[in-house]
Amino acid sequence: SLTTKLQETFKKLRGKGRLNEKDVKEAMREVRLALLEADVNYKVVKELVSKVSERAVGAEVMESLTPGQHVIKIVNEELVSLMGSGQSSIVFSKTPPTKIMLVGLQGAGKTTMAGKLGQLLKKQGKRPLLAACDIYRPAAIKQLQVVAEKLELPVFSMGDKNSPVDIAKASISYAESNNNDVVIIDTAGRLHVDEELMQELVDVKEAIKPDEILLVVDSMTGQDAVNVAETFNSKLDITGVILTKLDGDTRGGAALSVRYVTGKPIKFAGIGEKLTDIEVFYPDRMASRVLGMGDVLSLIEKAQDAIDEKKALELSKKMMKQEFTFDDFLDQMQQMKKMGSIGDILSMIPGVDSAKMKDVEVDEKEMAHVEAIIKSMTKDERRSPQLLKSGSRRKRIASGSGTKIQDVNKVIKQFEQGQKMMKQFSGMMKNPKKGKFKF
Ligand code: GDP
Ligand code: MG
Repeated sequence: SLTTKLQETFKKLRGKGRLNEKDVKEAMREVRLALLEADVNYKVVKELVSKVSERAVGAEVMESLTPGQHVIKIVNEELVSLMGSGQSSIVFSKTPPTKIMLVGLQGAGKTTMAGKLGQLLKKQGKRPLLAACDIYRPAAIKQLQVVAEKLELPVFSMGDKNSPVDIAKASISYAESNNNDVVIIDTAGRLHVDEELMQELVDVKEAIKPDEILLVVDSMTGQDAVNVAETFNSKLDITGVILTKLDGDTRGGAALSVRYVTGKPIKFAGIGEKLTDIEVFYPDRMASRVLGMGDVLSLIEKAQDAIDEKKALELSKKMMKQEFTFDDFLDQMQQMKKMGSIGDILSMIPGVDSAKMKDVEVDEKEMAHVEAIIKSMTKDERRSPQLLKSGSRRKRIASGSGTKIQDVNKVIKQFEQGQKMMKQFSGMMKNPKKGKFKF
């Protein structure tokens, strides 16, 4: 029957059993090496490995992947979600100017980034001012002026005789009276973190109360990145991270470490020496780069595509036939419990609005009710749902299943929704140009 055929398909989709501890341990050995090779801090590697192992043991192995590949898939997902969480753009102040302070070690790329960021915001319609608060590095002010001139951005500077606090404060007043709605403050760095530098940055922070304090990190920084990030974050409570020099061949493990230990979002990336070489941060690209398992990752991607297609295809075949009975409904609900909702499956199909799929989801407690109710129906009722228009039948089903008549009504309603959805869907499949799938 159709139901058994569907069941077989679902069985296949469910893959090859669950990951056991041994699978996970073996794969994690490989992952650990990959992360250490990418210069991810060893403490971070350790924590990540244990967190991912916990999640992976017991997970179902996806068809066409080996258990080891499936573990790597999970690691990759964890990395993407870790690096992707948090506000990833500039948070503008309600009362301009928005004050953005760039901090970091010497050579990290702050001055270059001040220009790049200014140019990016200017393109977005802002009127940024760059403020020169590095009074130590020889020619630092000149460097900022050269950058700004190329980008036709204004620079505020007071030479190197005033304190960074005074310069920062004055730059804000200047912005206010010159209609600049963003001030990007370029600060000094040191080769290593030191007390004096930190105190100076804390003083600037106190004086101007920045909206954003962005830690600029050279992605080629190795194991030391964690200490640097921890210090800057603990002293300044940064609001985000900018990675520079991602155009190099570094795997960028520092990025991951910094994100992990600070918990602050990575907002932008510097991808070259040119002043246009800036982009918003792409967590998925960074994850595959750090993990460095290109072949495995593209294989996983392909497997994912194949499985999505297969799920969608099987379901759509069934829908085309428009044979949807209470037996199918029950069967489907049971499958959903194992593999996510029908909404998830449908939302993989272009043109389907996944937000609208929420109503179709089943919760576990409800499942038991639904099952009892459907099992209290006669064979005929299940196959010919129109019979259930009769109130006495509904009453009988309610008492048979130990539920209330309202519960029975609710299940019938859900069923009808499902049926309607199937019809619309099959219409769409037959005539895809007809447009969006509506509820
Ligand atoms: P600061 O000391 O933090 O202000 O760093 P700078 O902005 O002076 O940059 C230090 C060096 O790194 C300069 O030679 C920059 O041209 C270079 N640099 C900055 N960002 C990038 C980037 O994204 N890619 C590359 N390849 N070089 C960069
Ligand atoms: Mg500089």
